[in-house]
Amino acid sequence: MTEKLYYQDAYLKEFTAEITDIREIEDRTAIVLDRTALYPEGGGQGADHGIIRLLDGGEEISIADVQEEQEEIWHFPETKDLSGFEIGQKVSGTIDWERRFDHMQQHSGEHIISGILCRMFHCDNIGFHLGEDDVTIDYNAAFTFEEALKAEDEANRYIWENHPLVELWPDPEELKTIEYRSKKELEGNVRLTSFPGADTCACCGTHVKASAEVGLLKITSAHKFHEGTRLTLLCGRRAMDFLSMNYHANKKTAVMLSTREEKTPELVKKQIEELVSLKARLSQIKEDYFTLWADHFQGRENALVISDRLEPEEGRQLADLIANNISGTALVFTKVNDQTEDGPVYRYACVNREQDVTGLIQEMNSALSGKGGGRNGFAQGNVHADKKTIEKFLSSF
Ligand SMILES: [Zn+2]
Repeated sequence: MTEKLYYQDAYLKEFTAEITDIREIEDRTAIVLDRTALYPEGGGQGADHGIIRLLDGGEEISIADVQEEQEEIWHFPETKDLSGFEIGQKVSGTIDWERRFDHMQQHSGEHIISGILCRMFHCDNIGFHLGEDDVTIDYNAAFTFEEALKAEDEANRYIWENHPLVELWPDPEELKTIEYRSKKELEGNVRLTSFPGADTCACCGTHVKASAEVGLLKITSAHKFHEGTRLTLLCGRRAMDFLSMNYHANKKTAVMLSTREEKTPELVKKQIEELVSLKARLSQIKEDYFTLWADHFQGRENALVISDRLEPEEGRQLADLIANNISGTALVFTKVNDQTEDGPVYRYACVNREQDVTGLIQEMNSALSGKGGGRNGFAQGNVHADKKTIEKFLSSF
């Protein structure tokens, strides 16, 4: 049985212990100590990381995972090589405090917001995961993001009032008299974690000693999940980093728009509306322009256009309009690439209202190193040739 120092003092960063076992577990090697401050994965909270070093030899190993099995805490090192480490040796341990304190902030914030939301919506918290990026919590009641933001406001006020955390280990008789939240039916020694006035919950995780250490709490989303709601949450430094990242992104946008930060949504909306209207107008003007261009070929048999400016889509549009005015084939080439080793690449669109163009396209592909085809009087593809070579090949046009 390992003595759980993190329950005596969640702020313990260094400790000494003795190795009581070293064993292979499913392809991994685990070190068991008689006491540890490294928290094992459990109750939705991830495992601590840290370092274990020999007191006399100075050799050390990084711990990347910690698990609890039958009252024993297994420390899994990053490497399998544990030469130098033996049962009975004295070691010192250091926990990755930045990671642990982050977990304490997220976990404590989760208690406060869950206590408030469960009271507001008469529901239970039915799932909790403290991930590397954010915290997700599931509730068995439906509420909106806006409603969740009201709870967020209340939670932040509670955080700043700096309420001390109370931990209780009630006996079964006492437990019956206390109202608390729990994710499951509990037996044996139950540990209650209470932020008085906000939440009391049966929990095995690690928490801050007073609410102000949560710092800041930000709900980033609330959406329907099964019959209830899934919330994503950030606390402490994670909340600060998230808000800071969003602030700087918005500030950059504000500078580009020469406006103040709070005005960016209004201005971006206006610019999108302008863009949509300009696109519609451009499309109208293009149609008029291509129609005039196509009129120029009126009465001709075939028509050839080679353009370095048009987009391939515009080339198809123009070929289509020209084909309405002529008796033979309309061929429009648009330049797509000037950088290849074997010269420029042109995209072609070929339209003939009366006849199949397959023969012409095959001949052209072979003469101009091209690729592509089509049917029913329409074809498209690419050729590797410059303007002069294309004109020479289609001199009959
Ligand atoms: Zn907890």
